[in-house]
Amino acid sequence: KGRAAKQETQTRKVTFADVAGQDNAKREVAELVEFLRDPDRYRRLGAEPPRGILLMGPPGTGKTLLARALAGEAGVPFFNISASEFIEMFVGVGASRVRSMFDEAKKRAPSILFIDELDAIGRVRGAGFGGGHDEREQTLNQILSEMDGFEGHEAVVVLAATNRPDVLDPALLRPGRFDRHVTLDLPDKAAREAILTVHAKDKPIAGDVDLGVIAAGTPGFSGADLKNLMNEAAIACARENGDRIAMRHVDEARDRVMMGMERKLTIRPEE
Ligand code: ATP
Repeated sequence: KGRAAKQETQTRKVTFADVAGQDNAKREVAELVEFLRDPDRYRRLGAEPPRGILLMGPPGTGKTLLARALAGEAGVPFFNISASEFIEMFVGVGASRVRSMFDEAKKRAPSILFIDELDAIGRVRGAGFGGGHDEREQTLNQILSEMDGFEGHEAVVVLAATNRPDVLDPALLRPGRFDRHVTLDLPDKAAREAILTVHAKDKPIAGDVDLGVIAAGTPGFSGADLKNLMNEAAIACARENGDRIAMRHVDEARDRVMMGMERKLTIRPEE
């Protein structure tokens, strides 16, 4: 395993236009763009800067994408860490990784620090099952103390994502920590069509492809599933040596993607 905190060198800037649907979530996150662009303006007025934002929603609904888009819109560096990586680290490393990651983000402020799968370390303390659980608590405690330790003026916005807000340690949700909550939902039909439009944009599509029909036939698909669907359709087309993605490629792809989705549903570990 490499470094826990990765600053991304983005090849193409992600913007809110890449996030289809999720209008409420976009609106709430967009409020931070102005702050990140000019934190001093807020500081001069003595305004308390926003600190931690929790993005909640099922897998593949665009939480990571939205955090990246905020960085892209504001033109600030994006530091990305997956909390589940901490679990795989050597004992004693988690807390110091958290520290260095926050230091790095502060050095490059204004910046965004994104913690994916917060629930992997952010579960209620004392509810683990032995083993590495002290380690996890130390890592969690370090996150809490870093969030408390921000000097008022440091323009680091911490975003965290979870699909299990119910298991989070309440200490994470206290004022000054992850006290703003933004929900992302599975897309409805109109949002699915909008997402399909984003992912069909750079692909050669045949005249018989109707994104509205595809959207109607994909209830329960997340944004990630829909992206996968368009990609599988392109692969099906390439396999035939075709040069335009036709509706039958999409149909074939949908069967594949749905099979994958069912598998995920049946083997998902639950506690
Ligand atoms: P997880 O909880 O599994 O980490 P997530 O909510 O962070 O998922 P993303 O990683 O952002 O989801 O989504 C994966 C990919 O799916 C995105 O990079 C994007 O290509 C596509 N996608 C998801 N949601 C949307 C959306 N609303 N609009 C456009 N594309 C989307």
